[in-house]
Amino acid sequence: MTLHYPHEVVRTMEFVAALCNGRREGELDSAASLRRLCAEWAFPGASGASRSDAAATWAHVPTIEAMWDAPRDAVAGMVNRVFREADARPHLVRHDGLDWHLHGLQAGAPVADAIAVDAAMAFTDLVRADDTDRCKRCGDDRCASMFFDRSRNRSRRFCSTTCQSRTNVAAFRARASAA
Ligand SMILES: [Zn+2]
Ligand SMILES: [Zn+2]
Repeated sequence: MTLHYPHEVVRTMEFVAALCNGRREGELDSAASLRRLCAEWAFPGASGASRSDAAATWAHVPTIEAMWDAPRDAVAGMVNRVFREADARPHLVRHDGLDWHLHGLQAGAPVADAIAVDAAMAFTDLVRADDTDRCKRCGDDRCASMFFDRSRNRSRRFCSTTCQSRTNVAAFRARASAA
């Protein structure tokens, strides 16, 4: 099976997972940290992000987490609400060597809205592809990390090999002490 939506959907999902995880883990708490995250992920329009941009972005995190965890039908309703509240105006653009792709807001829109609308556009593709359950949480009880499961059969359970091996070791010890 191939993923039947544009690769920027995967990229956006991994970006918003990094945003929500970074917020939860206390790594994102300032305008500088938002600018750094956006630079790392090449998310445009954030190089001048201010404290109020950061506060507005953090305010969108619970919405994005709710979309991440919700069943498909509920995601559809949440996506529509984000589009409505941010006054999204999808339009096709071609720039900086990138072929035609969709922008949800005009250039110069607040970065917080740009992030929320980009997330909503990526969720739109997942809803249409009936693939929202690729948006997962780590199977390690002590780790609530969000990750996007790109695996062929949607079988990935852990955010990282660290969490996977920690869980395997714990399960091994539990079996050993039971024996
Ligand atoms: Zn673009
Ligand atoms: Zn984990």
